[in-house]
Amino acid sequence: MDNARIADRLEAFASMLDLSDANPHSVRAYRRAAETVRGAGMPVADLVRSGRARELRGIGRGIEGKLRELVETGEIAELAELERELAPDLIGLGRYLGLGAKRSLELARALDARTAQEFREAAAAGRLRTVAGIGPKTEAQLLEALSREPEPRARRGLLLNRARELVGAIAAALDGEAAGDVRRWRDSCEWLVVVCAATDPRPVIGAFAAQPQIVALIEEGESGAVGVTVEGTPIELVVAPPQRFGTALVRATGSPAYVEALEPLPEAPDEEGVFRALDLPWCPPELREEAFRGEPPELVTLEEIRGDLHCHTTWSDGRASVEEMGRAASERGYEYLAICDHTPAVGVVTGLSADDLRRQAEEIAAANEVLAPFRILRGIECDILPDGGLDLPDDALAELDWVQASVHRGQRTPRRELTKRVEAALRNPHVRCLSHPKGRYINRRAENALDLERVFEVALEEGVALEVNGLPDRLDLSGEHVREALGAGVEIVCSTDSHSVRGLQNMELAVATARRGWATAERVLNTRPLEAILNHR
Ligand SMILES: [Zn+2]
Ligand SMILES: [Zn+2]
Repeated sequence: MDNARIADRLEAFASMLDLSDANPHSVRAYRRAAETVRGAGMPVADLVRSGRARELRGIGRGIEGKLRELVETGEIAELAELERELAPDLIGLGRYLGLGAKRSLELARALDARTAQEFREAAAAGRLRTVAGIGPKTEAQLLEALSREPEPRARRGLLLNRARELVGAIAAALDGEAAGDVRRWRDSCEWLVVVCAATDPRPVIGAFAAQPQIVALIEEGESGAVGVTVEGTPIELVVAPPQRFGTALVRATGSPAYVEALEPLPEAPDEEGVFRALDLPWCPPELREEAFRGEPPELVTLEEIRGDLHCHTTWSDGRASVEEMGRAASERGYEYLAICDHTPAVGVVTGLSADDLRRQAEEIAAANEVLAPFRILRGIECDILPDGGLDLPDDALAELDWVQASVHRGQRTPRRELTKRVEAALRNPHVRCLSHPKGRYINRRAENALDLERVFEVALEEGVALEVNGLPDRLDLSGEHVREALGAGVEIVCSTDSHSVRGLQNMELAVATARRGWATAERVLNTRPLEAILNHR
């Protein structure tokens, strides 16, 4: 989340507090905080993550809490609630027109418009100019902006980890199966479904409606229902008689194109039965995206992963020490873990210099003595500088076991320039893997313009792997890009980029994303033993 976005949300919060007649001091405090964030020279999200937000002027404990919520969840719940109460579509339209929330509501009130649509109609009828303070020039600007207003945007999906938690909890409570986008491990989940088996659907629907996550049923039928969560996310419940449960599960899992290609679906109590009756091998849900009736490959599994090659510690912006991370990785059954803290150019958080890295090496050596035969590797997440150079001297990189190269700033650089920059970094003989290649944040920042085809060529020439980053808001490479990379002959690495012990769990998201890209274990570097990692080139 960039500073501008954080500042916008703080500003919106101030306006909402103002509108709801909150204490003027807090309104001013949030406005000032928004200004501070907007002017900050470093990414505030990273400061927040490392618990240092209060180093910024005017950020006290209360605002820090809201910042943390915003950075961690992507939203301030109280703000979202206020916006819903206070004419959200008007405020949304106002935001699009560049008006603050308060000004939008004032204007709407003056136009006697209660919805965005009424606002548009009033504007189209030429009534804007009747509002005090709106001159012909402002009116023309607003009308012009309205004429360019895009189609209302599709509702955004939930991040995979949150969707899995939500749907998984309901499925567990109802003794059913999580299906839909969650079961296919889509990076952004819109179709949330739980499938249950029961002869009488009514008690299941009753139990579904009574789930704490479901605030209301918006549809109720003979064999299912649709409920909504407090955030307005719809969740579907499908209840099938036990003898047809498998059929219902296949139908509630695959994309429409996939399911259509299998129709007519035979009736069976489980999925295996459905596929058997179709005379097809069972298909992993991750591959049920497009029409497919063939023999699926042996996809890589979580159990085949032997180590994690990208994580952070308290040396940069992680929350756990080298030894804590190593111990946790060892307890997961891994053989190795590469510590890849940041370098100084990342800007926000502490980055390690060559000297720091040598001091860190001592800590790693000590932890390795304790944890042997488990092995902590000396790694780095080295920033790629604007000129394609790396943020550490070659002799420092040469000492390391594992070097990730990353673009953190300049994701909006034009295609040619960005591609040249990354290409130059991949040519450095010490670089082993390109981190989060497309630089996206799901639902927040689009993919960068990097020419992947070119990157695949260079990666292949240089023996560099591409990362499948398992952070739930990154999942980068995406499944589609994994498939392209593998098609080009490039190897991938499934990593968590974890900043805490808990973050190591995200390996399942990285592996699922690789599976969506049809990856088999042979193509995933970190399914190999330690020697293969160390003697890669
Ligand atoms: Zn990174
Ligand atoms: Zn990282």
